[in-house]
Amino acid sequence: MTITVTSCEGPHGCFHPASQCHSFREGDHYWSTVAHYCIAQRLAAAEDRERVRMARDADHAAELAATMIEVPDWRERAEATLRHAVLRAFEANLGVRAILVATGDELIESAPPWESLGPILMEVRTLVRQRANDPDAIQCEHQTADSVRFACSHLLASRETVRHYHRRFTGHAADFEMVCAACAVDRAELRKVCGDCFSWLLNGHRDGDLGAPAHRARTTDVRYEHVIVRPSGVEPEGIIAVAAVPKVFGVWLMLDGAGRLHRVDLDRGTAEAGGVVPEGSVDLGAPLDLHVASDGRLAAVAERYGRRAIVLEPASGRVTLSLLRDDYHEERCRFPLGFFELDGRLLLVHAVAWNRLEVSDPISGSLLSKRDALVYSGDARPEHYLDYFHAGLVISPSGERVIDNGWVWHPFGVVRAFSLRRWVDGNPYESEDGPSVKDLCARSYYWDGPVCWLNERTVAVWGAGEDDLELTPAARIFDVETGEELRSFDGPAGDFTFDAPYLVAHDRQTGSTVWDVMTGERVAADASLRPDAYHPHSRCFVTLVHGEGFRVSRRVDA
Ligand SMILES: [Zn+2]
Ligand SMILES: [Zn+2]
Repeated sequence: MTITVTSCEGPHGCFHPASQCHSFREGDHYWSTVAHYCIAQRLAAAEDRERVRMARDADHAAELAATMIEVPDWRERAEATLRHAVLRAFEANLGVRAILVATGDELIESAPPWESLGPILMEVRTLVRQRANDPDAIQCEHQTADSVRFACSHLLASRETVRHYHRRFTGHAADFEMVCAACAVDRAELRKVCGDCFSWLLNGHRDGDLGAPAHRARTTDVRYEHVIVRPSGVEPEGIIAVAAVPKVFGVWLMLDGAGRLHRVDLDRGTAEAGGVVPEGSVDLGAPLDLHVASDGRLAAVAERYGRRAIVLEPASGRVTLSLLRDDYHEERCRFPLGFFELDGRLLLVHAVAWNRLEVSDPISGSLLSKRDALVYSGDARPEHYLDYFHAGLVISPSGERVIDNGWVWHPFGVVRAFSLRRWVDGNPYESEDGPSVKDLCARSYYWDGPVCWLNERTVAVWGAGEDDLELTPAARIFDVETGEELRSFDGPAGDFTFDAPYLVAHDRQTGSTVWDVMTGERVAADASLRPDAYHPHSRCFVTLVHGEGFRVSRRVDA
């Protein structure tokens, strides 16, 4: 069947010179269509060519050109110009190229003023098909690329605007290739593209990872033992949030869907119903974070991506402090909040605005971090002004420091650390621009990811790479005092918990892996361990297992 290309409409409309499906770059110039390029090449004056290049569409470009001075011989060069532009366009756009290759050997015809388009498309088709079938060829236009990556031929030939793919780790460090759903199951037919085009392909939809980055392993006796506990009066099905009472052995605080708090001792197998979160204070239907003061006398319930949080006595439900943060992108920032203790005094760090944290006395509710409002007056940026969206906070084991897991525009996630002690004891602007503030790492489009403290000076941050789509499972170890990255190792996937002396990475799908943080070796794995919370004093995990009870998992080393 003959394919006739007369407009941008229809299944092959993308072949038309006026189609916006195949913009391309020539030197420093970006051409939005083949037609723009061809029309501009007719013109004598550089500024006319530039005006045509900027025209909003091909019709407008032709209209502009009609009043401009043409070069006398443009007609003789017209076909060569069109051939050049079509080749550039189909080299530059893998999706459109795939549609062309898929036409097989069909005859392609076109109409004036683009009568030579049909034969040119067939010529270009022969060329790009050779490349598409050649496993050694770089498929994109960047034929002299320094780095090449591999993707399956189906993804490169996909006509979808959003490609669904899996990352398949190759076993060489953290390298991975991209494969379609079919190739994820079967052997893939791989093709090369340059590193930049590979990154562009990653902007589709990732359906999952296959395999893992290469990592080192050591055989050990480390394993987890699991016990199911069924205290009367509380069922895992009803629980919507759970957290350890950090300094009380075996004791956890749990929040049920009706807003009631339960103090649950999983060592003794007992549960005590406590107070109720007052109706309307926080949205119990939204994702919530439960925070508990180290001795359990206070708890905080925060809307993870909402504006409200409350501090209350778990036993009575009496609210000591109600918090409301501002509404600037709060849905993209985990509610910044955490209890800490300095010199025996219980304190609370929490957000009031996207770029402002405060320290309050959670019992009296009084504000302890009084300082200037730091708002712009006209164009004048106030001293200490902070351009940073605070997000999930992770307090160090002794409460001296905090990790802030937020971001800055464009957005870039920036993991930063600073000293709570210096803030409380001296510099009111410590959280903004104090000398203890260290930016540990920055990742494009990625924040609020897994982080955990290894000790007072070191943290482990999940993910190697600089962009959300290219981040691969890894642990990066930073010194929070200097901001320096000490080392990193590939492999750990999922949330991080430090179960001293090991880093435990737990993934909802694949379970847990256990890592030696000094050597980067994997020392154990437990596919069944997908915990909901960790108890730093009891050194055990709890998992809410519906229909069974509370599964307590404790490490045994021999
Ligand atoms: Zn494939
Ligand atoms: Zn490329």
